[in-house]
Amino acid sequence: MPALEVPAASLLVDGEWTPARNKGELAVVDPATHEPIQSVALAEAQDVDDAVAAARRAFPAWAATNPSERGALLHRWAELIMAHVEDLAAIEARDVGKPLSGGRMNMYITHGIIDYFAGAADKLTGVTLPTRTPDYLGYTMPEPYGVCAVVIPWNVPAVLTAANVAPALAAGNTVVLKPSEIAPLAPFALAELARRAGFPPGILNVVAGLGPDAGAALSGHRDIDHISFVGSTVTGRAIMTAAARNLVPVKLELGGKSPNVLFADADLDVAIPAIVGSITENAGQNCYAGSRLVVEDTVHDEVVERLAAAMAQIRMGAWDADLDMGPLVSAQQFDRVRGYLEQAPASGARLVTGGAATGDGWYVQPTVYDQVHGCMPIAREEIFGPVLAVQTFSGTPQAVEIMNDTDFGLLACIWTNDISRALRLAKTVRSGQVAINQFHDAGVIGFPFNMQKDSGFSRGGGYGALREYTQEKAIAVRLLER
Ligand code: NAD
Repeated sequence: MPALEVPAASLLVDGEWTPARNKGELAVVDPATHEPIQSVALAEAQDVDDAVAAARRAFPAWAATNPSERGALLHRWAELIMAHVEDLAAIEARDVGKPLSGGRMNMYITHGIIDYFAGAADKLTGVTLPTRTPDYLGYTMPEPYGVCAVVIPWNVPAVLTAANVAPALAAGNTVVLKPSEIAPLAPFALAELARRAGFPPGILNVVAGLGPDAGAALSGHRDIDHISFVGSTVTGRAIMTAAARNLVPVKLELGGKSPNVLFADADLDVAIPAIVGSITENAGQNCYAGSRLVVEDTVHDEVVERLAAAMAQIRMGAWDADLDMGPLVSAQQFDRVRGYLEQAPASGARLVTGGAATGDGWYVQPTVYDQVHGCMPIAREEIFGPVLAVQTFSGTPQAVEIMNDTDFGLLACIWTNDISRALRLAKTVRSGQVAINQFHDAGVIGFPFNMQKDSGFSRGGGYGALREYTQEKAIAVRLLER
């Protein structure tokens, strides 16, 4: 099996690795050392035009393919990912700064997602519709949109490539993917494997470039038919504006400020490690990170003490040291998180542990602030770093109030041994996902990944995602007698 490498200074357009038209390059940097890893081509508007044109040319034949054939190609792609899992894990871990074990876990998920949509490709069906009399027939046909633009962030680039590209392709669309300029290597490596799997030219095109440049050119392009965006809420608003101008459907998966709501009767031995993991995994740079802890007053002191002890055990290091937590991804992200650390004590929050940068890379200590109030920026804003804000409640009504006191609506985790209380809160919370006595989803690839409020709106994950990439045509027939 030949080793997997991302071709230097290149974009993938129409099945070929090519330099950017202006020959611009983008250096990709190791967050642990600040050393350049390699360069990729810096796409600009004309490269985006080329990619969209290639996707447009490829669309009619791809849409007409037998869905089983599309599924078979996706299966082959998934197999190649498994065959290169170590290469891919190292590429993503180094690019993002996450431990190698985290990179490996993401590749298993990436494989699972592509395999899921490979199996789903020939399961898309329409329905028959009621009609006025038996002299009519009505039915629906699911159809691909056409050329789908996919714009993703840097935090879990392989998983987000799979989660958006695989259902789009399975449904018969062609894709132009713009990975983040900060961590584009894993998406490029996956695209190379798609090429090796035998996807025809133009089906999947990848252009890395700056957001306001290549990203804006793609999301505002007149010849795209659908936009999927994963990223910050601020950029999500710009994407929606671009989509409105061209009247194309948009799928948005944005930021989060997810609460862990911890009642006194919860199993603390299970809850505390999970809460620590929820804010230290990927150095807190996950949309679903458990960045708020809403804890019942009667166990507050014990919980905060145990959290501090557990946070102190987190081992930090570069991707190849494979410890618990790596650095933040970029200088910009580092400055942003440090800004919150500088501001938090002045706002009245009490520092329990951490609170500082450390080491030579963009490392930030796992940090806990106590005595946080709902008006403080660390309680309200997505920090996207290993920073936990602790708020205290007394009684269920106050727990509900604090839980819902956020602009975001991605995930809420409820920790209690009282199942009726847990289910009541699950009904009350305004978020797309709820976890009870665990953090995040049920560990199944097809589990929905839904959002509410400023976290966006989408049917991500599972069969719903396949539907997101199809439009429905309704057909009415009059059955004439001759
Ligand atoms: P970002 O919004 O800065 O960038 C995301 C992508 O958009 C990048 O590819 C970027 O180049 C591009 N972009 C930036 N400006 C653009 C513009 N004007 N027009 C078009 N494209 C533009 O986000 P980020 O810093 O890369 O990622 C972190 C954010 O992503 C966090 O808010 C996190 O919560 C969110 N995220 C959400 C999910 C989810 O499923 N909800 C998953 C992962 C990350």
